[in-house]
Amino acid sequence: MNPDPLSAPRHVRPRRGTAPAWPTEIQTVLISETQLQRRVRQLTRDIQRDYTGRDLVIVSLLNGTVMFLADLIRHLSLPLRLDFIGVSSYGVGTESGDLVFTKELRLDVRGRDVLVVDDILDTGRTLKRVTEKLRQLNPRDLHTCVLLDKAERRVEKIEADYVGFKIPNQFVVGYGLDFAERYRNLPFVGVLKPEAYQGGAPE
Ligand code: 5GP
Ligand code: MG
Repeated sequence: MNPDPLSAPRHVRPRRGTAPAWPTEIQTVLISETQLQRRVRQLTRDIQRDYTGRDLVIVSLLNGTVMFLADLIRHLSLPLRLDFIGVSSYGVGTESGDLVFTKELRLDVRGRDVLVVDDILDTGRTLKRVTEKLRQLNPRDLHTCVLLDKAERRVEKIEADYVGFKIPNQFVVGYGLDFAERYRNLPFVGVLKPEAYQGGAPE
């Protein structure tokens, strides 16, 4: 009888000593998986406390929020709705200049309590543009939540209402954050070795 392919993973054990290739490109782990889990659970509790009994719509920015968002809402026991906005800035690794909206909001947020989630607040241009755009849709209330905050780099006058970690002025990857679309799958937030940038350093 053929083994059921769907049950196969239950019997598979990772082999010791076969580390995946990615850790060799990491210079330092800035925020470990455990630290991330602990802090995100705290943020979930804060949001739970503040939004109980309200009509919450979470608007998450693609693509960097993928892991943070999943962990954040997993334990949020509120009747929330979820939507996404796609934003990208022109040029790889440059200052976030011209923002392009690659996916528009689908849900109607008029009169709703909106919480915008982003991966990292850097110069503040992205969150400023996005919140300005959302305000035009007349939500009842608009707050913001970011996993990381690089306050040193701020250009726009904007702060987030919920912040996971304040970090120094370093380009970070992992836990959803990319360099040239790579490294989003790392379970931690880290800094790449200079050679990993191969001349295309982000800053
Ligand atoms: P801002 O518009 O605030 O300058 O930048 C926000 C966006 O720039 C973030 O959503 C993120 O996509 C990108 N960004 C800023 N700093 C970093 C960083 O250190 N690492 C990565 N991977 N992306 C960053
Ligand atoms: Mg982003």
